[in-house]
Amino acid sequence: MNSTPSPLAIIGSGPAGLTAAIYAARAKLNPVLFAGIEFGGQLMGTTVVENYPGFPEGVDGPELMQRMIKQAENFGTEIVYQFVRAVDFKSRPFKLKTDESERLAHAVIVAVGSSPRRLGLDAENKFWGRGISTCATCDAAFFKDKTVAVIGGGDSAMEEASFLTRFAKQVYIIHRGDRFRAGPIMQDRVLNHPQVKILWNTQVTDILGDKTVNALKLVDTQTQSESELAVDGMFLAIGHVPNTGFLKDQVELDPKGYIKVFDRSRTSVEGVFVAGDVEDWVYQQAITAAGDGCKAALEAQKWLEKEAH
Ligand code: NDP
Repeated sequence: MNSTPSPLAIIGSGPAGLTAAIYAARAKLNPVLFAGIEFGGQLMGTTVVENYPGFPEGVDGPELMQRMIKQAENFGTEIVYQFVRAVDFKSRPFKLKTDESERLAHAVIVAVGSSPRRLGLDAENKFWGRGISTCATCDAAFFKDKTVAVIGGGDSAMEEASFLTRFAKQVYIIHRGDRFRAGPIMQDRVLNHPQVKILWNTQVTDILGDKTVNALKLVDTQTQSESELAVDGMFLAIGHVPNTGFLKDQVELDPKGYIKVFDRSRTSVEGVFVAGDVEDWVYQQAITAAGDGCKAALEAQKWLEKEAH
């Protein structure tokens, strides 16, 4: 164990964590950032990002993350390529345990994000980022005049489907139930839309294609009859799962497992701050996560300065 506490530890290496690291390192807080075994969060699974300001021609998700990590390192962030498996926020300095080491820190920023819920099909791994997307805002433009399917029946599914009609010629919404969970206003946007067709009581059982998606295998949940639907892409909108399993009993979570925010980036534990999708289930954008990371670093810096006096 490295027994000298770092002023600040950051858990997570998506846009929230890395932006926090850039700000904290420039403020001479010598942050240590736990990046996981791979780094970069959800943008590592996307192709071109066209809505991150400053890149008029777009930028590949992995390249954007490489640039952020380099920027954080340039200012002196120590990057540890290990997963934090457990924390002890009950006493200070805080303890962070990985499989290989244990580190102490006076303040912590948690920026571990959330993961899109998956259907649990093997083919999802094969086509992730190659015809399967979880973000119409990011990827709809790649499906101009194509046919796509949106899976889910909540507000996200309605929003994704509605946005996709601006590009795709045909949008299917595939929902396992016989009514949408989404609010009425959101439903109205798709229910009578000429480009949208809804397949009720339907589950996806397989995803077919060579290099990219070209069909879905479906089953009618009432009759059990099977069919195939030709599509060029599939947008999953079946919810997200915050990556907070290791934080249970350490910091207050809401009933869905997202970290509760008290007063700006502060959590229920003094000295522990939060940024990005692990607390924000509404916007879930790289740029909003980056903004959150900046705010959390400034809050942590202020708090550490106050504690030192
Ligand atoms: P939700 O949890 O609301 O909906 C998830 C949908 O996915 C449900 O219809 C559910 O089906 C379906 N689903 C879940 N698991 C599976 C599965 N394994 N196979 C097939 N279908 C599945 O998630 P959302 O992301 O839509 O919304 C999250 C929150 O964000 C909500 O509170 C929502 O109101 C909010 N939101 C608000 C927006 C707005 O106001 N503009 C926009 C987007 C989100 P079933 O209904 O059968 O359970």
